[in-house]
Amino acid sequence: MTKGTRRARALFRVSSLIRHSAFVIRHYMKLLACGVFLLVAGIANAALEKYSSLVVADKDPGERAPSNAVRVTYLGVNGFQFETGGHVLLVDPYFTRVGLWSAALNQRIESNPDRVNEGLKQVRPRADALLVTHAHFDHLLDAPEIMRRTHAQIAAGPTAIRLVESFGISPNKCQIVEQGSIRKVGPWTIRAFAAQHDRLFGKVPFECNSRPSPQSSPSGRRGRGALGKSESASQPVKVSDWCVGEPFAFVKEAAGKRIYIDSGGVPGVSPDRRIRGVDLAILGMALPDSRQRFAEAVNQLRPRFVLPSHQDDMFAPVSRGFTFGKMTNFPELVRESKRKDLPGRLILLDYYRPWTLR
Ligand SMILES: [Zn+2]
Repeated sequence: MTKGTRRARALFRVSSLIRHSAFVIRHYMKLLACGVFLLVAGIANAALEKYSSLVVADKDPGERAPSNAVRVTYLGVNGFQFETGGHVLLVDPYFTRVGLWSAALNQRIESNPDRVNEGLKQVRPRADALLVTHAHFDHLLDAPEIMRRTHAQIAAGPTAIRLVESFGISPNKCQIVEQGSIRKVGPWTIRAFAAQHDRLFGKVPFECNSRPSPQSSPSGRRGRGALGKSESASQPVKVSDWCVGEPFAFVKEAAGKRIYIDSGGVPGVSPDRRIRGVDLAILGMALPDSRQRFAEAVNQLRPRFVLPSHQDDMFAPVSRGFTFGKMTNFPELVRESKRKDLPGRLILLDYYRPWTLR
């Protein structure tokens, strides 16, 4: 064998080895991707599958809401659509799903138009009103965009309204709610009640006393929980600019149904004593504070149905499916409901699967 032939054969062997290795790597990468996908999908499905006896949903998801009932669609986090007789209310609709690190590092955030687009495909094209329980980003960030697209007006506390107006939303579209205020929107009667926000490590997250971001205009913020009365809000930039404002709970009545909704609470502070005997109680359960007030809230409200909300992983995209948030403890809620024989039937809703409250 000549020197040249030996070199040619050696080169051929090396190139075959490289081709083979590339094939093996590609093959294993595919298998790995498949495995990761199945694992994630498995986890996502398992989250609600485990409680399938509690999940309620209509048989026909395309059916319109009858005028003597209210159709409820869960949009993730604390977001809901309520429909009756062709009228639509949205509460806390939030589709952007800011990531955990953006929130933890207080980064610049913006509403994500693609995710809002995807989310809005799951609700009616027009809404009468949007109710917002407080001004944190996971309740309010997408509100200006959703208002433009659905032509909805908004009803929320003064801080949330000022933040929304900073995006050019007309004040004619904005209704400031106060403790005890009553508003009629189509067939709905909406009552607002002052509420509490859960604490995280002993403190309400993102109160409105932080200094504005350097990028914001200098009008600033004042007070512990809210913007000052005469202040106009600068456009929020960072996570903390979406400061809590004034938390509210709402009772909405239409089609002979009463629905209570809040986004959380603290132990020792029950919902307003005037609210008793509701058809559906939707209780925010994101953090241990709200979990600890669960029994007293349910005993006060005496609902027919109890729906824990805000207990999914709000940092994961909706496409991943329902997974429980790291600081929630749904198994304990189930145990407590049984142990204390709490009133009402405990239910769960899956993303975008409507259920009619009759
Ligand atoms: Zn919040």
